[in-house]
Amino acid sequence: MGKYSEITHFSHPQHKLRFEYIEVPFHCDGCKEVGIGSRYKCDYCDFDLHLHCALPSPSINHPFYTKCSFQFLPHPPGVIPRYCNACGKDVAGFVYHCKLCGFDMHPCCANLPRVLDDGKVKLLLYKKVDAPCHRCGRKGKSWSYRSECKKYNLHVSCVRDMLVDSWHNLGKESVGSSRKLETRIPSLKGTLANHHQGKGRVMRCCEMAALAVQFIISAVLGDPTTAIAGVIGSLMSR
Ligand SMILES: [Zn+2]
Ligand SMILES: [Zn+2]
Ligand SMILES: [Zn+2]
Ligand SMILES: [Zn+2]
Ligand SMILES: [Zn+2]
Repeated sequence: MGKYSEITHFSHPQHKLRFEYIEVPFHCDGCKEVGIGSRYKCDYCDFDLHLHCALPSPSINHPFYTKCSFQFLPHPPGVIPRYCNACGKDVAGFVYHCKLCGFDMHPCCANLPRVLDDGKVKLLLYKKVDAPCHRCGRKGKSWSYRSECKKYNLHVSCVRDMLVDSWHNLGKESVGSSRKLETRIPSLKGTLANHHQGKGRVMRCCEMAALAVQFIISAVLGDPTTAIAGVIGSLMSR
C-alpha cells in the first residue's frame, strides 16, 4: 500500500485528506471502527480514515476464503445487521463483501497480517482455534492470534475490545483530550496480568506472548508497524 501525503476520497469529497501519524486512538469514519497510528484526516472536519479505508483495493482475495472474491463497498449491502467474518463484530460502514457467500470483512480485518513477529515471539493468525481465548475464555467465534507454542490465544475481536473498553471508560470528558486517552490505556496491562497468575510452566511462554500483545493491538487497529506497537507497549507498562 503506497502512502500519499494528501488524497481525495469519495466519502469526503469536499476537502482533501492529509496523512497523519498520531499515537492516540481515533474513530474511523469509513468502517466506524477504532484506529491508532497512521490515518488520513480532514484538517477542517472531525473526519478520519484508516489507511486501509482511505486506500482500499476494489477487490481482494483472502487466504482463509480461497473460493471468495471480496469487493470493496462503502456500505454493507442488503439487510443489516451484518457482521464481520473475521472479528464477529457488526459491519456498519466500509466493508469487503463476497457476493456469492455473503461473507463480510472490515477493511482492517481483511488486511490483518498472517504472522506477527516481534523478534522474541511469533503470533500466527488462525481462522479457528479450539482453545479458549485468554481474554474472554471462549473458543471459536472470531479469528485468533496464537503463539507458536499454541498456549496463548487471543481473539481478534477481544483485542479490539481491550482498547475500546479503556477508551469508552473515559466518558465524555475525554473528547478532544489526547492526554487522558493515553492515561487510561494502561488498564490493558491488568487485563493480561490476571490471566497469567499461577499458571506454572505455561507462564513463561504466555508472558512472552503477552508482551507481544501490543503488536496484535496495532495490527487490529490498522497499523501493524513496530513504531505504533512500541507506543502501545510503553502505554501499557507505564
Ligand atoms: Zn476504517
Ligand atoms: Zn472536511
Ligand atoms: Zn465467497
Ligand atoms: Zn472485523
Ligand atoms: Zn476472546
